[in-house]
Amino acid sequence: MTCGSWMVPVKTRRELILEEMGLTPVWRLRDSAPEAIEPLGAAPAQIAEPRPAIRDSRQPATGDRRETIMRLEWRDLKESVAGCVDCPLHARRNKTVFGVGDENADWLFVGEGPGADEDAQGEPFVGQAGRLLDSMMAAIRLQRGANVYIANVVKCRPPGNRNPEPAEAAACEPYLHRQIDLIRPKLIIALGKVAAANLLASDASVASMRGKVHQYRGIPLIVTYHPAYLLRTLPDKAKAWADLCFAVRTMTERDAR
Ligand code: URA
Ligand code: SF4
Repeated sequence: MTCGSWMVPVKTRRELILEEMGLTPVWRLRDSAPEAIEPLGAAPAQIAEPRPAIRDSRQPATGDRRETIMRLEWRDLKESVAGCVDCPLHARRNKTVFGVGDENADWLFVGEGPGADEDAQGEPFVGQAGRLLDSMMAAIRLQRGANVYIANVVKCRPPGNRNPEPAEAAACEPYLHRQIDLIRPKLIIALGKVAAANLLASDASVASMRGKVHQYRGIPLIVTYHPAYLLRTLPDKAKAWADLCFAVRTMTERDAR
């Protein structure tokens, strides 16, 4: 199976793992050596600095709140999310899940919201769906913490993994918006219907949104299936791989411009 100049010649340990997960075919750049999946850059070191005074996040979700959030730099934005009580999801969370990765990444993956594992660990996509996401990213030479950023629409876990309510997503939206403004990714991948619906303000199905380059505030955005859905719906895995190929092509074309 080809994906532009992407082919499958030799089986690597990663491919065997993917195969075991029912995730073949796997693509790799034709010229790349097996296991040549190098992170393009190291994760930025966390610098311990004194905590600045931050706003009281209990203020109401008004235009002022959005404007305040839209001026925050990374450190204050993280502090703000960590203490946020601006929607009902704060009440039952264990940890807020801000996002993880290269703050200057070209690629941004956006999911829905934390599940139980993410709520316990404070990091997005660390459960079973997260392992699948890591494998999907590895197939296009992206690695958590190195050359990609991963975030969610809501930063606190919806109880029982239900979808976030529109009011909850709306309350949390300025945080993601600000993250995207700070990262300035070249391409956004919306994982599943909730991410796509919130980023594109559309109620369309994932099936109908796939295969097109949408725009989020001028940034190209591609929609694909959520890894948790793929774990339940084996036949759609091939479509997700096609979407990743499409994303790589879109990025390559953009870089060539
Ligand atoms: N599903 C999501 O949408 N996000 C996560 O962080 C984990 C599972
Ligand atoms: Fe705040 Fe977002 Fe958590 Fe709601 S989901 S409490 S808006 S951080």
